[in-house]
Amino acid sequence: STFESMSLKDDLLRGIYSYGFEAPSSIQSRAITQIISGKDVIAQAQSGTGKTATFTIGLLQAIDLRKKDLQALILSPTRELASQIGQVVTNLGDYMNVNAYAMTGGKTLKDDLKKIQKNGCHVISGTPGRVLDMIKRQMLQTRNVQMLVLDEADELLSDTLGFKQQIYDIFTKLPKNCQVVVVSATMNKDILEVTRKFMNDPVKILV
Ligand code: AMP
Repeated sequence: STFESMSLKDDLLRGIYSYGFEAPSSIQSRAITQIISGKDVIAQAQSGTGKTATFTIGLLQAIDLRKKDLQALILSPTRELASQIGQVVTNLGDYMNVNAYAMTGGKTLKDDLKKIQKNGCHVISGTPGRVLDMIKRQMLQTRNVQMLVLDEADELLSDTLGFKQQIYDIFTKLPKNCQVVVVSATMNKDILEVTRKFMNDPVKILV
């Protein structure tokens, strides 16, 4: 398939090509249209498959830029990954005037808040602890979040990082009809539990 055949917004398509992508990878061909159609999606995919651009293109297509509200939230297990994802959102959305921020706990809450208040914020890429903290302090409004992405969900939900309860708490703060996209290298009982509790008839894609 091609990116043209996905009925993407012109300014998004332009961002994709100027980023250097010519044709969609396998996961992109199979998952982007499902995400755009509004379905909950579980993709079993490793790094290197083009997974980041998959959910990024999906969420950029869904965002309404006329609104200033937070509309998409991406959670990942490390500061480094959250920053990288934030950068991909900014780059692919280069022609869209999208406001995307990485929120990783590296900077002070005040710095994060200042940026959001100044420009508005459509997309946040963050680690669970900082994102939950900001939601609890009402620094982030979640009432118009229409998509939640869990990247590297197997890592996110593993006991060692202690993120599971934070992620469950974040789910409770999101609108009931929020679309959920999960990307994971492996499938395990924690991911199946998230599927059962928070996802609605998800499409499963194995890359
Ligand atoms: P990821 O699986 O998200 O870690 O992406 C792996 C690498 O593939 C990154 O360097 C991306 O920039 C690159 N990539 C993703 N999609 C495409 C594409 N359609 N064409 C060329 N490179 C891509």
